Amino acid sequence: MPFEPLGNSRCRVSRIRCSLKVEEKTMKECNSCGKCCTKYGNGGLSVTDEEIEFWDVFRPKIADYVRDGKIWMNPKTGEQLEVCPWLKKVPNEEKYLCDIYFDRPDDCKYYPVTVEEMIRDECEMIELKDLDNPVKAQETLDKIMVDSRPSYS
Ligand code: SF4
Ligand code: SF4
Repeated sequence: MPFEPLGNSRCRVSRIRCSLKVEEKTMKECNSCGKCCTKYGNGGLSVTDEEIEFWDVFRPKIADYVRDGKIWMNPKTGEQLEVCPWLKKVPNEEKYLCDIYFDRPDDCKYYPVTVEEMIRDECEMIELKDLDNPVKAQETLDKIMVDSRPSYS
């Protein structure tokens, strides 16, 4: 599905419902649409002191983008960046990758945590059946994310 600016969550939800009338699907793996990184990469991410200490010692290039416990900051000016510096578009595809995937903050690793935030953020993992049964959807999400974060449900 192409990455495109969408309207509010209700718009997105009704679009999902329309597009899935024929075949009802359940939650799928992340398709790298990049929406979450775009939404949170400009000041919406948190980072721990331990993560910053690790970057300071072992990943100085990442540490350059930290200022006063905040990410991602312009290394030259110290100002908040508008776009995460590690978000890279795949050439000729509507997909995005993380340049520091194995060293990204837990806040990135844990996303998405709840079905509610997926709906709010128009995350493309979610499907029609998930909207009808959010409890089951949360269990499915936790299974998909089992290698990335603790269970929420
Ligand atoms: S660090 Fe990686 S996962 Fe986190 S917002 Fe940036 S590109 Fe996305
Ligand atoms: S977690 Fe959701 S919003 Fe983020 S890249 Fe994957 S499909 Fe897109």
